[in-house]
Amino acid sequence: MKVTEHLNKTNKSLLSFEILPPLKGKSIQNIYEVLDPLMEFKPAFINVTYHRSEYIYKKRGDDTFDKVFIRKRPGTVGICAAIQFKYKVDAVAHIICGGFSKEETEDALIDLSYLSIDNVLLLRGDASKNERDFTPEPGGHKYASDLVKQVVNMNKGIYLEEDSIQGYKTDFNIGVAGYPEKHFESPNLKSDLKYLKQKVDAGADYIVTQMFFDNKKYFDFVERCRAEGIHVPIIPGIKPITSASQIHTIPRTFHVDIPDELSDVVENCKNSDEVKKAGVAWCIEQSRELIKKGAPCLHYYTMGNVDAMRKIVSEVF
Ligand SMILES: Cc1cc2nc3c(=O)[nH]c(=O)nc-3n(C[C@H](O)[C@H](O)[C@H](O)COP(=O)(O)OP(=O)(O)OC[C@H]3O[C@@H](n4cnc5c(N)ncnc54)[C@H](O)[C@@H]3O)c2cc1C
Repeated sequence: MKVTEHLNKTNKSLLSFEILPPLKGKSIQNIYEVLDPLMEFKPAFINVTYHRSEYIYKKRGDDTFDKVFIRKRPGTVGICAAIQFKYKVDAVAHIICGGFSKEETEDALIDLSYLSIDNVLLLRGDASKNERDFTPEPGGHKYASDLVKQVVNMNKGIYLEEDSIQGYKTDFNIGVAGYPEKHFESPNLKSDLKYLKQKVDAGADYIVTQMFFDNKKYFDFVERCRAEGIHVPIIPGIKPITSASQIHTIPRTFHVDIPDELSDVVENCKNSDEVKKAGVAWCIEQSRELIKKGAPCLHYYTMGNVDAMRKIVSEVF
């Protein structure tokens, strides 16, 4: 079933989890260890992130270096298929522009469609670690909106080669990312919303937000989106703080604020257990308010934190 069909079927807030593929060399058992304890809460769908390959320099015997590409977390398509097969729950595959030509994207989408994975979250991806700014792959997309257009075309039976215009029509339900605290490259929220609207006008069916720790940021964002003519469902993405260092690393990595009250609580904790408890308590409060005010679905960034997730979700759902 499509994400938007799940949302349309009920007035209640749904539940979804986002997981990362395991590091290369680990087994899919790592995914099951995260998901098995969470399935009793009946998530409507599960998102699986996509990770671009990075290049590293490997030293050769003669002291010269080889440029080698490695993908640390491969397996998104296979994990989505495994989730649908094992748990009978819809999987949402993330697809990114970075590191892909349009042809490679098309092939990945064909694989997904053949596997009945009809939900995709379309993203640009970040700059690779060796770059300052995002650079598209030669023959790849520069913005997520271009990726949306490609998928919408495939849904109409239009593939990249002109002679297959009357091709098989895929049936993808399309999500895109939104940023309550604006995307860090945008000069301001107004500009970011202009491009978010472009993604929706191109055919995105719903939005999932970047994480936030102050619900007001989400509620204001939804209001601004509506005022700008963006009317698709906006799913809030949240995660609990699980270690004291995240008070500093999360703003740096995700370009979001930690409210004073939350950082004060965490800084006053005496040990890591207290931090986890405080992070879980904050996330429970956030979740309850989001549900009370009618959020269509809560999207939890699990990041492998199974215990914290279980505590939160068992209190809230
Ligand atoms: C819910 C969620 C899930 C994510 N999952 C993944 C994942 O699985 N893998 C991964 O690598 N990353 C993931 N990310 C991170 C994401 O790839 C980055 O935040 C990335 O920097 C931006 O992606 P985007 O799709 O929002 O980009 P875009 O929508 O393309 O926007 C990128 C920037 O360009 C601007 N912009 C857009 N269009 C134009 C235009 N036409 N002209 C000028 N400026 C423009 C936007 O305002 C924004 O500042 C996720 C983020 C979220 C919120």
